[in-house]
Amino acid sequence: MSGSTLVTNIGELVTNDPSLGDGPLGLRRHAAVVIDNGRVAWIGDARTAPAADTVLDADGRAALPGFVDSHAHLVFAGDRAAEFGARMAGEAYTGGGIRTTVAATRAAGDDELRANVARLRGEALRQGTTTIEIKSGYGLSVADEARSLRIAREFTDETTFLGAHVVPAGRDPDDYVAEVCGEMLGACTPYAKWVDVFCERGAFDGEQSRAVLEAGRAAGLGLRVHANQLDEGPGVRLAVELGAASADHCTHLSDSDVAALAGGDTVATLLPGAEFSTRSPYPDARRLLDAGATVALATDCNPGSSYTSSMPFCVALAVREMRMTPAEALWAATVGGARALRRDDVGVLRVGARADLLLLDAPSYLHLAYRPGVPLVSTVLLNGVPL
Ligand SMILES: [Zn+2]
Repeated sequence: MSGSTLVTNIGELVTNDPSLGDGPLGLRRHAAVVIDNGRVAWIGDARTAPAADTVLDADGRAALPGFVDSHAHLVFAGDRAAEFGARMAGEAYTGGGIRTTVAATRAAGDDELRANVARLRGEALRQGTTTIEIKSGYGLSVADEARSLRIAREFTDETTFLGAHVVPAGRDPDDYVAEVCGEMLGACTPYAKWVDVFCERGAFDGEQSRAVLEAGRAAGLGLRVHANQLDEGPGVRLAVELGAASADHCTHLSDSDVAALAGGDTVATLLPGAEFSTRSPYPDARRLLDAGATVALATDCNPGSSYTSSMPFCVALAVREMRMTPAEALWAATVGGARALRRDDVGVLRVGARADLLLLDAPSYLHLAYRPGVPLVSTVLLNGVPL
């Protein structure tokens, strides 16, 4: 891209930089932003904005950083609408349906998988997600996991090896963990930034999870953990102990889990789409926030337990169902997600940050939760370039 862009007449600008405005969101009124070379070059009062090659008039609308979705499973084939229907008719969620998607994913060609990721990535982008993490985890063989990550890498740098999603049908669990930590990790590492494990009853126990995370770390990958979704397992404590960037789900927490998250560097990533779609109790976000933990919100977009790509929907759920304030929810969906990915160039609008900026068809970010289900994201700039 060549030339600078002035986004002016912003009625309410969320910067997420407290030094630039009011409160934790760093709110400014009547603001303008200058973008150059895909980065934020200037932020200030619209009346004193410098000239630029192109002008985008926000006409009083709200502007905010693009959403950072730090947890999504987009490489798969097929869907599980029938399973969802059965669950809404009274069946419990056990995680066993993952194997259904594994069979469909293995049977799909590369182009089919790639087209499905492109469709979901486009869907998320139109709803304001400018940074997305994408996991493998529906291949569960050396070749299929490596293929999933190779395709994911075409769409994002934030790729996560989740060979330890579930033990595939017909495999001995310890034998499978050894493969995940050995040949599969070796085949996947060239395409992965992170390693993740589903530490949960019915998936991998504490010792197996530790083995996967330590092997991933030794291979140079950052750590993430699916933790404490279904009960108070060892996942959160393991994540904090090993210095994982994020413990995801955090639905069932003991007091010591909360204290560990509050005292460590691990972000508590809450995925309310999963509780919505499995009709389960929501995580207690207030307890985490009041204890001082860093909280992120993400979609967990996947065909089984949370088939939404919408960060605005997650913000609305967090406010209505998890008693987060609208400001806390927006922070968690932007800079919170960035922290969960250990990034400081996204989720904020300050000089030097990536120019990922949204305009809402609304005068304030409050409308994201106030008007649930309404497509308010009207303009998306990705690296300073309008969609
Ligand atoms: Zn997940």
